[in-house]
Amino acid sequence: MTEIVVHFNKPALAGREFEYIQQAINDAQISGDGRFTKKCHALLEVELGVPKVLLTTSCTHALEMAALLLEIQPGDEVILPSFTFVSTVNAFVLRGAKPVFIDIRPDTLNLDERLLEQRITARTRAILPVHYAGVGCEMETILEIARQHRIPVVEDNAHGLFGKYRGQYLGTYGCLATQSFHETKNLTCGEGGALLINDPRYIERAEILREKGTNRSRFFRGQVDKYTWVDVGSSYLPSDILAAFLYAQLEQRHIIQARRQQIWRSYESGLSDWAFKHEVHLPYVPADCQQPYHMFYLIMPSLDQRQALIEHLHSRGIQAVFHYLPLHTSEMGRKYGYGPGDYPVTEQTSERLVRLPFYNTLDRSDQEMVIETIRHFRPSW
Ligand SMILES: *Cc1c(COP(=O)(O)O)cnc(C)c1O
Repeated sequence: MTEIVVHFNKPALAGREFEYIQQAINDAQISGDGRFTKKCHALLEVELGVPKVLLTTSCTHALEMAALLLEIQPGDEVILPSFTFVSTVNAFVLRGAKPVFIDIRPDTLNLDERLLEQRITARTRAILPVHYAGVGCEMETILEIARQHRIPVVEDNAHGLFGKYRGQYLGTYGCLATQSFHETKNLTCGEGGALLINDPRYIERAEILREKGTNRSRFFRGQVDKYTWVDVGSSYLPSDILAAFLYAQLEQRHIIQARRQQIWRSYESGLSDWAFKHEVHLPYVPADCQQPYHMFYLIMPSLDQRQALIEHLHSRGIQAVFHYLPLHTSEMGRKYGYGPGDYPVTEQTSERLVRLPFYNTLDRSDQEMVIETIRHFRPSW
């Protein structure tokens, strides 16, 4: 095996992670909802302008909370792209929902809002847009259709923290939105997430669901004199040690985002003439979207060429990876009656897309090497 010279991803420290973890330990406050969790909540609420943010143990768990808050029942339908991570669908399938997939736009790779209305039925209970690579979905159209049919919208914003659509932050459009702080995301604490609550009607129940179905949050605020079992729930709150790590990252968000912008721009400028010449597509960012520079991908002309490029990079020690396999052609997708050919843009995109190494500390010479290696790629076209 070739030794890896440039990794696809490396978790990067922002600076004060150890110091804050030490503080949490010194304060003897390492369970959930301690000082650093509150700091993360406040920072995100103020920065994004969201009424309530709750850190969770993962984006997956934030999505599960969303499905519980929307009271998804067996037989309900949820509309989502097939080109997404399994948790977007599983969180709702866990409650008995039937996934109703929708194809993606060939330009942004987001759910194609022109196909949305025809997927709505009397059983539709949620629309789940995923902002792929942090590039905003056509939220205006999606929200308008959702309003007409009175269907809640939950944004899976795992890629899109600090991205904007028409000047407004992603994650602030749906009644609920979810974030991920998994190690592969722009800001991380290893494993972590957040639920953004834009519709205040969900706040109280969200606090209860996250605290094992008890009104413990109200107890800590002194609003009740003891706490007890009031609803279903689970344990969706992360340790304050993880929140301390995350707070150190959030504090440095401007530096992290600026660095990622530089990396993204270097890929774009280093590869655009090559891509044009060889009919390779680079990410498309509409003028009304401000992306958070989550990833850089290429869409190759064919599956064979995608595989050949990944091989070519691997042989030189560069880790490049493909991304989502369509959910509708997976083993589970087939159980719901879907199969190959149902969503052609999703299938073609999934076969042709390759993601390039991208992390906060990717250094210039390594990135130059990746760019040069790609420019020397000579497939059989
Ligand atoms: C990473 C990711 C998730 C899951 O995030 P976790 O924090 O690992 O649960 C969900 N949806 C999308 C689109 C993702 O990229």
